[in-house]
Amino acid sequence: MTVLNLKNIEKSYPSPKGGTLQILQDINLKIEKGETIAIIGRSGSGKSTLLSLMAGLEKPSSGTIEINQEQIATFSEQQLANFRKQTLGIVFQQFHLMPYLNALENVALPLELQKNKQAQKIAATWLDKIGLKNRKTHYPSQLSGGEKQRVAIARALINNPTLLLADEPTGNLDEATGEEISQILFELVKEKQMTLILVTHNKELAQVCDKRFLLQQGVLNEITI
Ligand code: ADP
Ligand code: MG
Repeated sequence: MTVLNLKNIEKSYPSPKGGTLQILQDINLKIEKGETIAIIGRSGSGKSTLLSLMAGLEKPSSGTIEINQEQIATFSEQQLANFRKQTLGIVFQQFHLMPYLNALENVALPLELQKNKQAQKIAATWLDKIGLKNRKTHYPSQLSGGEKQRVAIARALINNPTLLLADEPTGNLDEATGEEISQILFELVKEKQMTLILVTHNKELAQVCDKRFLLQQGVLNEITI
């Protein structure tokens, strides 16, 4: 089953100097359920922009995006919100944790927003699962980079998303910690049979994925390295 289908996607931004800045030119990408895909490309090549489009956070200038065979452009605000809550998980390079919530509260947040009474209990089992049993009441400022990313991963997965978008999840971590985090991420992706779209500069990490794509000059091409 096709989870995500991008057809002829173009994206341009208004240039501060006037005119437009074309970031993505003609992106075509079809991803099947359970596939793991790595996207690599230089800084500024448009990788984060591409993920924002997949997440429905930004709209393409032209082209269509289908999620589970439905066009995202036809979604109502409610449908889009449900898609983000039920289907999608996102992990960022900069963690994006809430500074005024502790580790447990950060992980529980997506469930709290859905008024799930078990939120904290479920979050606690996730913290155990990712090896942060003893960090529940730590605030982000009291956690290491690797620990912050673990919290962010648990938060992204607590809704059991079928599609996980990860934007350079190890980009801010040292090599050893990055490897640990990648391992945790891949174990969970396999365990939950999630579909993964991973933006990374790490060749080894890209190697573990089923397919690899290079984003260059606005175009995405599968590569065989
Ligand atoms: P990457 O993630 O590959 O480093 P980005 O997707 O963040 O690249 O950015 C691609 C290009 O798009 C950059 O040149 C950036 O300056 C530009 N860009 C990104 N977001 C915006 C925006 N909201 N408005 C204008 N230009 C943007
Ligand atoms: Mg980026």
